Amino acid sequence: MNKEVLKDISVLYVEDENDVREFTSKLLSSLLKKVYTAKNGLEGLELFKENQNNIDLIISDINMPKMNGLDMCEQIRKINSEMPLVITSAHNDTNFLKKAIEVGVNTYAMKPIDLYQLIESIIKAMEPILLKRKLIELNLSLESKIEQEINKIKSILDAQDNIIIVTNKDEITNVNKKFLDFFEIMNFNEFISTKKNIFDFFQEEFGFITKEKINRQISWVKYIKDLHEIDRIVKIKNSLNEEKIFAINVDYYENKEDYYVFSLTDITKLKEKSNLLEYQASHDKLTGLFNRNRFDEIYSKEIKRAKRYNNDLSIILFDIDNFKNVNDTYGHQIGDEVLKEIAKLLLNNVRDLDICVRWGGEEFLILLPQTNLDGAKTVAEKIRTAIIKNSLTDKNLQITASFGVLQMIDSDDENSLISKVDKLLYLAKNSGKNIVVT
Ligand code: GH3
Ligand code: MG
Ligand code: MG
Repeated sequence: MNKEVLKDISVLYVEDENDVREFTSKLLSSLLKKVYTAKNGLEGLELFKENQNNIDLIISDINMPKMNGLDMCEQIRKINSEMPLVITSAHNDTNFLKKAIEVGVNTYAMKPIDLYQLIESIIKAMEPILLKRKLIELNLSLESKIEQEINKIKSILDAQDNIIIVTNKDEITNVNKKFLDFFEIMNFNEFISTKKNIFDFFQEEFGFITKEKINRQISWVKYIKDLHEIDRIVKIKNSLNEEKIFAINVDYYENKEDYYVFSLTDITKLKEKSNLLEYQASHDKLTGLFNRNRFDEIYSKEIKRAKRYNNDLSIILFDIDNFKNVNDTYGHQIGDEVLKEIAKLLLNNVRDLDICVRWGGEEFLILLPQTNLDGAKTVAEKIRTAIIKNSLTDKNLQITASFGVLQMIDSDDENSLISKVDKLLYLAKNSGKNIVVT
């Protein structure tokens, strides 16, 4: 899209760091029509309320005093549900990114801000709005001669970075070039001749709109447009078999109730980033096992569940023997390799529903739902022998570990379970190591 459009855009830019705000707003001012600046979410919200008719887009930092950027965006979306939102952040907190998707942030620019990337983000976020404005400008009379009218706007549609679909009731009447390129279709007629609909391309996956869900509806258009913005997310494979995630934005023309423009924005990167951060926040970096944070989330739920359904629940805590020697003799890196290989042995010897945690440096914990003491003891023995049988790392190290194993009883709670299993492990260490104590 032509960068000339920037000259018609006024933005509200919210950033709490003075240097960043002054520097970036100066640069933006030279490109845009007007830049309103605020130094926190509360100030930004006030400024938006005063100037809402003049503001086309919001650029906001996330982490700010008084009111954070996402809470501000949420408030602004309540006032104007279509206001394009661009967030900038160095923040690595998954919850923020999840919320960003929920609030319906259009694009995301990482800090430190690269101005070129920021401009691209602004253009990307503005596209659906500009398109809609142009459509209104053209004063489309869609009932009459829809084909001709659509051809008039075809060049506009084709210039979009988003995939665009135009519908009349449940029938697709036009698609843009991006759509055809995405699926490697020669032209619109070829697409029509396949008798396919866009939803035929939706991947059947939990958390997305799927073809199966749509097939249960009377009208696919009505179904998608009535969904909440957060749920209007699909996964589609392109002609190269790459999976992409899109947020669907649905616009309809005033007085033209049956005609819609579906605009599919690629949010794959945003989603991937969010998933990656979510993974990092809940897994141990070295071994890939769950970390303590994630364990804390699961632990009480598992205890409650076992008590409610009267299910067995057991716990194994084990610690590598004389691990300090490994580090001292072969170095920390070989020590790390040992930890990784033991984590793998551990995973190979438990069921999918067992919860494996890196408990501390060289301590591992396994929570075993629906398992009694005998079962848990067998698992611990299996792991203990697997560690002995396998000579670890390219140094062929002979490693052993000591185990405490326990089954929960009615009077146990989160704390008592851990402290009891910890004592059993201590006993194992004091009984000469390389054993399982119950
Ligand atoms: P014990 O048999 O009594 O358990 O003796 P130990 O030497 O295994 O136990 P100790 O608690 O004295 O030492 C644990 C060692 O584990 C010390 C620490 O440097 C090492 N360690 C903890 N985390 C890591 C890690 O992530 N990587 C490496 N390489 N070593 C670690
Ligand atoms: Mg140890
Ligand atoms: Mg230890």
